Amino acid sequence: MDKESLVKIEAVCPSKMELAEVKDKLSRAKSGPQYWRCLEELAQTDDFFEMLHREFPRQASIWPESASRRDFLKLAGASLALAGLAGCVKIPLQPIVPYVRQPNEVVLGNPLFFASAMPFGAYGSPVLVESHEGRPTKIEGNPEHPAGLGGSDVFSQASILDMYDPDRSQIITYLGQLRSWSDYVLALRGALNSQKAIKGAGLRILSCPTSSPAMASLMDEVQAAYPDSKWIQWEPVNRDNVRAGSLMAFGDYVETRYNLEKAEIILSLDGDFLSSGFPGFLYYARQFAARRNPDLGDKMSRFYSVQSTPTNTSGKADHRLPVRASEVEQIARAIAAGLGAGGATAGNLTPKQRTWVAALVKDLQAHKGAAVVIPSDNQPPAVHALAHAMNTALGAGGNTVVYTETVQVKPADETKALKDLVGEMNAGKVDMLLIMGSNPVYDAPVDFGFADAMDKVPLRIQHGLYQDETYDHVHWHINGTHYLEQWGDVRSFDGTASLIQPLIAPLYNGKSDYEFVFALVGSADTTDYDIVRKYWQGQVKGDFDTSWRKALNDGYVANTAFAPKNVSAKGGNVPPTSSITAEVMEVIFRRDPLIYDGSRANNGWLQETPKPIMNICWDNAVLISPNQAKQSGLVTGDIVEIDVDGRKVNGPIWPQPGHPDNSITVFLGYGRTKAGRVGTDVGFSAYKLRSSNSPWYAETKITKVGSGFDFAHPQGYQYIDVSDLPAGMTDNLIGRHVIRKATLHDFMQKGFHLEDNEPVPPEMTLYPNYQYTELKWGMAIDLNSCVGCKTCIVACQSENNIPVVGKMQTMRGRQMQWLRVDVYYEGGTEDPSMYYQPVPCMQCENAPCEQVCPVGATVHSTEGLNDMVYNRCVGTRYCSNNCPYKVRRFNFLLFQDFTTPQYKMMRNPEVSVRSRGVMEKCTYCIQRISHGRITAERENRKLRDGEVITACQQACPAGAIVFGDLNDPTSRVSKIKAQQRDYNLLEDLNTRPRTSYLAAVLNPNPELETSEPS
Ligand code: SF4
Repeated sequence: MDKESLVKIEAVCPSKMELAEVKDKLSRAKSGPQYWRCLEELAQTDDFFEMLHREFPRQASIWPESASRRDFLKLAGASLALAGLAGCVKIPLQPIVPYVRQPNEVVLGNPLFFASAMPFGAYGSPVLVESHEGRPTKIEGNPEHPAGLGGSDVFSQASILDMYDPDRSQIITYLGQLRSWSDYVLALRGALNSQKAIKGAGLRILSCPTSSPAMASLMDEVQAAYPDSKWIQWEPVNRDNVRAGSLMAFGDYVETRYNLEKAEIILSLDGDFLSSGFPGFLYYARQFAARRNPDLGDKMSRFYSVQSTPTNTSGKADHRLPVRASEVEQIARAIAAGLGAGGATAGNLTPKQRTWVAALVKDLQAHKGAAVVIPSDNQPPAVHALAHAMNTALGAGGNTVVYTETVQVKPADETKALKDLVGEMNAGKVDMLLIMGSNPVYDAPVDFGFADAMDKVPLRIQHGLYQDETYDHVHWHINGTHYLEQWGDVRSFDGTASLIQPLIAPLYNGKSDYEFVFALVGSADTTDYDIVRKYWQGQVKGDFDTSWRKALNDGYVANTAFAPKNVSAKGGNVPPTSSITAEVMEVIFRRDPLIYDGSRANNGWLQETPKPIMNICWDNAVLISPNQAKQSGLVTGDIVEIDVDGRKVNGPIWPQPGHPDNSITVFLGYGRTKAGRVGTDVGFSAYKLRSSNSPWYAETKITKVGSGFDFAHPQGYQYIDVSDLPAGMTDNLIGRHVIRKATLHDFMQKGFHLEDNEPVPPEMTLYPNYQYTELKWGMAIDLNSCVGCKTCIVACQSENNIPVVGKMQTMRGRQMQWLRVDVYYEGGTEDPSMYYQPVPCMQCENAPCEQVCPVGATVHSTEGLNDMVYNRCVGTRYCSNNCPYKVRRFNFLLFQDFTTPQYKMMRNPEVSVRSRGVMEKCTYCIQRISHGRITAERENRKLRDGEVITACQQACPAGAIVFGDLNDPTSRVSKIKAQQRDYNLLEDLNTRPRTSYLAAVLNPNPELETSEPS
């Protein structure tokens, strides 16, 4: 990026500010709630107001410099790849079974749904896959699956783009040269013959963790054929600490799952159980939301979070205690000591921490049998052991906590197993290494020197979806299949087994992991279908064909959830983990909330979705507390060198409200060198700092080495302007009641009254109100339920063929996502409260956009929607200027890729693919409304409530979004809107939006409310 561009973009989103400005602002602030969305807004700088008053950023209409154009073409120009695919559809050879109640034949224009499951680490996410004439186009949750409850997460939503990724590996290679499967099998047989003679002593297999029962059976077969071989499971974002904590507490590996529906008090020890990717996230999000319903009265749950890096999970807490990651253990010890759990001893706590812990302990003890403690996967084993002891002391077992056998097959200490493998490779004990789905050259602990050790192995074979960083170190590469292209099975977090069925034949003739492994012990022509089916034939009693069809139809094998185990945690002393002294800065390593461990780095939807809480995209950052940034003389965009034990990496600073002092956080997964056109050279690799003995936090030093880095921060471009309010109301969002909230105590005492804040203006209009005789659509979003996971954004992008625009275009305010999730902070920067507000088009009754469109391209429908007529739009953008909610998106450039064959196959055929020069926005998934209306008309009946579900609603794991007919007083949405908590955004404008919100209700502990500084 050249200097001139940097200047322009700074003007778009001022990001350099001083903490002094913030503190001064806070000191001048009037009493009452203060809502702000980023530090610049809190500081109220002149640059902030200039940006606020520009509908589109300065220079937004100008084509950027050539470097940016190259970047853009990198994203958009995937069409150069694979013209030979030609958009044809290849149907799987074996019979697959559609989801319940769907016609079993293909009717043009009518999608079919198939139940399946997405493996993610060792756990499966249940999904329904929408298929149009043999092309999978959209992922949904499976409402019938006991572990999914109908929601989905960002990774399953985005997995459809993974499958159609033109950068996927498409061929088998030997030393980079094209080969066939039979060439590979020939070479494999020769190597295996040598191994047979030595019982496989030189054979090592390195795979991702798995819970697949069929794969477990294959593991046993390999072990039987090659008794001295070893199979190592490894993933960089692993659960070693969870397992080690379980060993400490129970003397055995035990799976812990939580029943949040029964939990009245939840304590998280740095946990992130409301984020996509956490095992059981779908289940927990739905249960958590159910217990955050203030209509439950004093049965509404209360949530405490001891938190290092702020996450969307900790943002939902009624009480947060920000501490460094290395200090969570001493807080856990203090709480355990208070509960009399084992022989834990409290560490040195500050007075505030003591007060916090004392109130918490009292609350936990008052809710025995209805309280739960959830530790973070990133916290050391001692914290897990303490959490188990606390849960035992609280009588959680069998109530809020259930213990079962482990979901992952053959669990082990993955880091130790990988270290042993490296030792053996260095010692020349490994003759052939098979790597399956793993990328250890990129993500193995830096102290292992994995690549150098691996290069010593005489035969190295890789099976995977990409020719990634590990590819450069192997002899053979076998291109793998995506889960939507193959047969398989997987268990969900509760043990429920699901069958994976292919929606399409492999796009690039890849081999599944089952076929790859089976070639070691059987015929290389055996298909994954035969392998998986044969395994289940051995498991099912009675009529197998019927059971098989039922399992495929339902998406899970009935009665396979693991039975609870009767265990209780050992008491006694939990040995302390070596800590980092308070004077030394720590660096926390976290998986990225969207690209995870880096395996999703080439997914443009995930790269472009603003991260939960911080709302930046297309980069990782060095998160630091605003206070620490000030003390260190750092501002947003300064580049620091992070030094961990002499290993050094540079990264840009992002002051993050709520982050503890003397601590920084870096997300893993960036800095890929061979991810594909989208994910290569994005961000910096934190793996280069991460060693095996300190995988989640370590001592560090930071030194400023540069400045001027610019983030793409979409939340900075879509402000709701409050500056035209009368004097005294211009300094924060309170004047417009963007966030409304109450405490549970007040809500129970006097209900929720909007008049408490400001009288609602009467409806005023120059025109007679339109009479909706048939349908009148509306939406309600519950701020209390929303956990800020961003799944709705990715679901909307997938459903509505929304393009990816890249970092540079996002920085110019040209992002295209129709839905955003705003984060509002309240209070100071040390420990602000957080509120998540999904903002789609409001479908206003008095729509400001409709009144200014010179060509009538945005018009009101007879069902109350603000429709967009793309063919009429001439791109004046008046509508967007006049939209107070900032929910309209303009195609400044030809963002859509109209030529890549894979992307043509992926798109939803019921949604037009927009070209440049067109304004677009949410229309409540009008295609789904039309589909429902046509179906109802064909069946000569009225639409039923719940028959039309918008994409965001369907995807939301928390059930925070409800859509329906406002003319039907019995519809769910009508009932929700009739609640006292219902309010409209910017209702003083008399736009009369059809999307409304249910106010947030917090459940603070009265003891902490009075004793804690705000
Ligand atoms: S509304 Fe969106 S961000 Fe909120 S919980 Fe649902 S999917 Fe996640």
